[in-house]
Amino acid sequence: MANRMLRIDPTDHVFILTGAGVSAESGIPTFRGAGGLWRNYRIEEVASPYAWERDPGLVWEFYSMRRRVAGDAKPNPAHFVLAKLEEAIGDRLFLCTQNVDGLHERAGSRRVIHMHGELFKSRCDRCSRSPFADEKTYEPPAEIPLCECGGRIRPHICWFGEMPFEMEKIFTALEKCSMFVAIGTSGVVEPAASFVAHVRGRALTAYVGPEEPANRSAFDECYMGAAGELLPKLFVVEQRTRRAGG
Ligand code: NAD
Repeated sequence: MANRMLRIDPTDHVFILTGAGVSAESGIPTFRGAGGLWRNYRIEEVASPYAWERDPGLVWEFYSMRRRVAGDAKPNPAHFVLAKLEEAIGDRLFLCTQNVDGLHERAGSRRVIHMHGELFKSRCDRCSRSPFADEKTYEPPAEIPLCECGGRIRPHICWFGEMPFEMEKIFTALEKCSMFVAIGTSGVVEPAASFVAHVRGRALTAYVGPEEPANRSAFDECYMGAAGELLPKLFVVEQRTRRAGG
């Protein structure tokens, strides 16, 4: 297992899907791992349109805590490897993350698709004002911040029950890819969990993480271990196409 590597040919298009596990070694807890519960709430109860309607103060308390944790975290070797891979193969890499912590960019990745939004952005829950950079924390007893239009400012996050962002770009990249690598994602959150089934049979599919994901059967290869340990040795970028039988 230790010697296995993913060889990227000059013609390959690589789709990488990252999940919470990529940031686990940066000290950001995953949702489903040990300690994944937050103050006895299930994540759906603080990260859904229903939660926002019921108790926006609690939702902001949760995202304020997450802004603090992510703000203090540093990228780990897994993030840096993916930034270097982009340097090496340019736009033949499509990096799609479910993470909202911004650590891919802080490691140097330039083109990152944030399908579940960005922790350090906010937007209005009423008008079409674009999401804007926002590092502030809003915790009770502070008021919920308001937009000029009177709407409430909410985190720019795709909550449970909402439509993820950039789906058109994502499906175009899935159609094009010849290699699909999922890293640190449990394979239960849709639609990301189904991406591998979409490319299976056309692209090499690989998973990296310490446990088998729920959709393990859709992967050709499974590299078991922590992303920060495995990724630095996983990818080999070939300068020439290998000839069959050559
Ligand atoms: P998840 O919490 O459901 O699963 C995390 C996965 O990471 C598990 O399969 C676990 O085995 C794996 N993992 C744990 N440590 C790892 C390591 N060192 N290296 C590689 N893998 C490791 O997360 P999910 O599948 O991404 O889905 C949960 C949703 O919540 C997603 O939207 C997710 O991005 C979001 N979330 C984001 C963050 C973040 O931005 N950092 C943190 C928690 C949850």
